[in-house]
Amino acid sequence: MNKLTLPLVSIFSIITLASCGDQKKAETTKVEPQKELVEEKVIKSILTAEEQAEMTPQEIIGRLKKGNENFVNNNLTQRDHSEQRRKSMIGQYPKAIVLSCVDSRVPVEDVFDLGIGDIFVARVAGNIENPDIVGSMEFATAVAGSKVVIVMGHTACGAVKSAIDQVDAKALNMESLADLLDEIEPAVNETELEGERSSKNLDFTNSVINNNAVRTVKNIREASPTLAKMEDEGNIMIVSAVYDMESGRVNFNKD
Ligand SMILES: [Zn+2]
Repeated sequence: MNKLTLPLVSIFSIITLASCGDQKKAETTKVEPQKELVEEKVIKSILTAEEQAEMTPQEIIGRLKKGNENFVNNNLTQRDHSEQRRKSMIGQYPKAIVLSCVDSRVPVEDVFDLGIGDIFVARVAGNIENPDIVGSMEFATAVAGSKVVIVMGHTACGAVKSAIDQVDAKALNMESLADLLDEIEPAVNETELEGERSSKNLDFTNSVINNNAVRTVKNIREASPTLAKMEDEGNIMIVSAVYDMESGRVNFNKD
């Protein structure tokens, strides 16, 4: 970390402080014995600097996988958001940053059974990288101490399907969307698979979705010498994954 660390963290703390509010504690309607049982499992704390410092990137990925198991099994951890929000006013020490598509069917925190203060989430249709996204990742890791960067694509991704089918967004007067789809096009072109090269071909589409996430990781390493160096030195891990909308499972690639 360099000398910029403290001022930047302070700026972020001020932003965090400004955005915090309060809310009445939710009442439980459970009968007494169950209430005690439930309350024991409710998370009221948030990640501390010490906890963040102690975890290795490998341990963090292990915890994210375990959290995803909870999501798959419909067994999400209960959290006292009011209490966590109050505690998070002192700062934030998230363990990872996840780059996801904007798709409304991919609730990133829930997918990993996480809550306030646990992860940074960057979202853009098709989970591609750009300077703002890479800058956010540099902030999350080099400044705020996160140790894992995950690029998470998802099955049935509309952005990827549109790129595969070469939707002409420009003709529809959406130049920015056309630019975005152009960013996904290389992943389409480099996907070699037998059969029809259209979004009707599920195997092809899923291959492109995975290749797009892998390619984004490669682009991030090339775009940020800082992230690449941190990864080379073993201080962070940058990985790709695909969220399976049907099962809820996040399948990590070994890249
Ligand atoms: Zn998508």
